[in-house]
Amino acid sequence: MTLGELYRKALESLDGIDGAENDVRIIIKKALSFSETDFLMNKSSEISDEKAELISEMLAKRLSGIPVQYIIGEWDFYGSTFKVNGSVLIPRPETEILCEYVIDYLKRIESPIVADLCAGSGCIGITVKKYTEASEVILVEKSADAVVVCRENIVSILSDNEARLINGDIFFPEDLGELPLFDVIISNPPYIKSSEILTLQSEVLLEPRMALDGGEDGLDFYRLLAGKWMKYLKPDGMFAFECGEEQAEKIKLLFDEKEFDVTILKDYSDIDRFVIGKRRKI
Ligand code: GLN
Repeated sequence: MTLGELYRKALESLDGIDGAENDVRIIIKKALSFSETDFLMNKSSEISDEKAELISEMLAKRLSGIPVQYIIGEWDFYGSTFKVNGSVLIPRPETEILCEYVIDYLKRIESPIVADLCAGSGCIGITVKKYTEASEVILVEKSADAVVVCRENIVSILSDNEARLINGDIFFPEDLGELPLFDVIISNPPYIKSSEILTLQSEVLLEPRMALDGGEDGLDFYRLLAGKWMKYLKPDGMFAFECGEEQAEKIKLLFDEKEFDVTILKDYSDIDRFVIGKRRKI
């Protein structure tokens, strides 16, 4: 079978799946280790039975509802390829906005210390470290399985493994060992209301519940961050959080406006998605 024939067959097999065309290309390119150009230039090349079989297994997984990112085991985020599997949240493009904002801010600070809380795959903390060499980054993640993935990403993306990863629960910062005061505390915590988890798209339901469930009103983690964690922020420090739709204003209210200057930023779909707060100098 040629690549062109295989591609057409694959498209038919995923008929009805959202984003089928994109997913088919991603799966084929991964299975054949092809770049986009290889894919476009080799439509009449013969594909071995072994590769065709591998591709059909991957397509069957996609058909059963598994996100393409878990099938290929990796996903690109801010110019790096992160390993992902079912124990971590899939890095989202909007999270790049958060990283960009923080990276830009950190350029003005000498040897900054940064925390990424609920690190998951490590996409935020690792990206920030990669683009602000002088920073010290500490990532905290509760799930032992996610920590394995995060560690692999630290090793593969950062040349000297230069990020500290703590396996622990951010609800108990006092149990995380000695922590410094941070210039920036970043987090994309779980923020879905517990009662809404089951209404999510089926693909999202295959992501770890621990990475999604933000408690009854979805704001449990922000209350924790606004409470206990602000003790770990330097007097001139900044926090930068990602949140769900219609949460940003509520999160802003968790912070005393005399102490914090809070700004809300939008994502690519014009949704209030990020809450940034700078401590006002007294
Ligand atoms: N920090 C990771 C991300 O942004 C994981 C977030 C989470 O597990 N809630 O993708």
